[in-house]
Amino acid sequence: MQCGIILSMSSKRAIKRRACSNKKKYNEEEAKRAAYHARRKTGDWILPYGCKFCKGWHIGHPPRKVRQAIIAKQKRRNLHG
Ligand SMILES: [Zn+2]
Repeated sequence: MQCGIILSMSSKRAIKRRACSNKKKYNEEEAKRAAYHARRKTGDWILPYGCKFCKGWHIGHPPRKVRQAIIAKQKRRNLHG
């Protein structure tokens, strides 16, 4: 019985660790600036995001769903431009 509870708790912690705990915490402005610089430095797609765990901001690679939404938006803009 307890195993299941411990398992689900630890996986939640793992998500938090990946998305929050081991990351630098920014305010919104700092996150935007840091993401911009990281993008220029690495060439990677790095975006600022609001963190639901600590209510601060971090930067990181967006999930595929977000990337696809951004790409779709850019394609639409290109068609019109
Ligand atoms: Zn956080």
